[in-house]
Amino acid sequence: ACVPRTAVNVTQGVALKPGLFTCGNTVADSFSICSPKVCIVGSGPAGFYTAQHLIKARQDVEVDIYERLPVPFGLVRFGVAPDHPEVKNVINTFTLTARNSRCSFYGNVNVGKDVSIEELQQAYHAVVLSYGAEGNRRMGVPGEDLAGVYSAKDFVGWYNGLPSCQELSPDLNCETAVILGQGNVALDVARILLAPTDILKKTDITQPALEALVQSQVRRVLIVGRRGPMQVACTIKEFREMVNLPDTRPEMMADDFEGVKEALKDLPRPRKRLTELMMKTALEIPSEKEQERQSKASRVWAFRFLRSPIEILANPDNSRTVGIRLAVNRLEGSGDGARAVPTGEVEDVTCGLLISSIGYKSLPIDPSVPFDSHKAIVPNNMGRVQHTAGLYCSGWLKTGPTGVIATTMNNSFDTARSVVEDMESGTVDVSAARPGSQSISGLLEERGVKPVTFSNWEKIDSLEMSRGEASGKPREKLLTVEEMLQVARK
Ligand code: FAD
Repeated sequence: ACVPRTAVNVTQGVALKPGLFTCGNTVADSFSICSPKVCIVGSGPAGFYTAQHLIKARQDVEVDIYERLPVPFGLVRFGVAPDHPEVKNVINTFTLTARNSRCSFYGNVNVGKDVSIEELQQAYHAVVLSYGAEGNRRMGVPGEDLAGVYSAKDFVGWYNGLPSCQELSPDLNCETAVILGQGNVALDVARILLAPTDILKKTDITQPALEALVQSQVRRVLIVGRRGPMQVACTIKEFREMVNLPDTRPEMMADDFEGVKEALKDLPRPRKRLTELMMKTALEIPSEKEQERQSKASRVWAFRFLRSPIEILANPDNSRTVGIRLAVNRLEGSGDGARAVPTGEVEDVTCGLLISSIGYKSLPIDPSVPFDSHKAIVPNNMGRVQHTAGLYCSGWLKTGPTGVIATTMNNSFDTARSVVEDMESGTVDVSAARPGSQSISGLLEERGVKPVTFSNWEKIDSLEMSRGEASGKPREKLLTVEEMLQVARK
């Protein structure tokens, strides 16, 4: 049987050199001391799915998850839209993994700053990097830093309670908002800007965001893409949600769909169904009931195709945005590979709020880890970091920031399989014991870093849920790291 980790006395292992131990004498002690120890950096879906697979695949492996924030679950907590609670059910599975006696969570540990990857490599047999994609791609056009211009990453972080985004307080005192990008994140942002606040107030959206949205003057949201309707990156579920969003009506442009009908038959099925729905929305005369609903709508949304940003326009004193200059494009080629080529024509659109939703990107966190800055990923082969035995990656850091939680799950399982294979083949030597968290905890203590355990997080979780209950929401999130730590340590 496995010895509970807290009962293991690490001094029974004989230190050979820092980070390397031989096994103790008794079977029980040696089991835990000698068990393969894996450390995972990041507690989003990638971290938890990697841990889940490792624990299931090997009965002796012990997994420690280090997370920068005091709270777990990454983008499931801070990315997934508040009005998509069903998506967040994966948290139940992650919680089961975290409560497994062979898994430990160490929140409030910023890897790369509080502890280096090299130190983790010395303490563990294998290190899996699953720290996601926390940067955002910039538009690279003049005016990008004007007031009123935000990245979707920050805007989403703001309404979802990410502590570093709480200062954002976006100014919603304008009629038109432009969102650049036509993926699901762009549609999440459009929905949150336009949804009746009576719907939002029953979600886990933060109270400051809800209050700002109640006061919001935004009545029109344009969702702009550089290519055509057959290249949009959103999926049908998210588009249908826009079509059905109460108190809104679509204003698609019929001309955008010229020639699309003829191309439909060659499209793969999901793309075909989405394009058909877009065409229906743009071209068909709605039923009487729908017409009545639309005539009463106070808010409008629309897709604008074949437009790329050239410049963000500023007011006379250059203090904030008043619009955007767009290049009008034409398509070269067809299908997913079609390229947007500027026609030379430009168009100015007036707006007081501009949100760029053109993608997230991973960032390097430690100079010792190979990083492909062009692709913004850690270069890897099936999750094995190139030229670095015992170092792995999973999730968005491995693949780039695309795909849903299910995609992340599959690629994380693949990485866990690579770890297990390497342990079995001896590529990763697990015959000599490693101290795991025992030595890292010492280092963190020396550095004044106090990790948050999973049961500490559960205190935050229950407080948030009880605060939410009082106002008819699933939870009221704590918004600062300080408050989280205070509650965790009570
Ligand atoms: P993340 O979820 O980002 O997790 C990374 C974790 O690493 C974070 O907890 C972070 O705090 C931590 N970390 C970062 N740096 C460090 C460090 N130095 N040390 C320690 N820890 C660190 N998918 C769906 O299926 N349905 C949806 O509705 C959906 N909505 C989405 C909405 C948005 C706005 C976004 C951006 C994505 C959405 N996704 C959705 C996709 C889904 O969130 C991703 O597939 C998934 O979260 C990627 O997992 P990950 O673990 O690689 O990254």
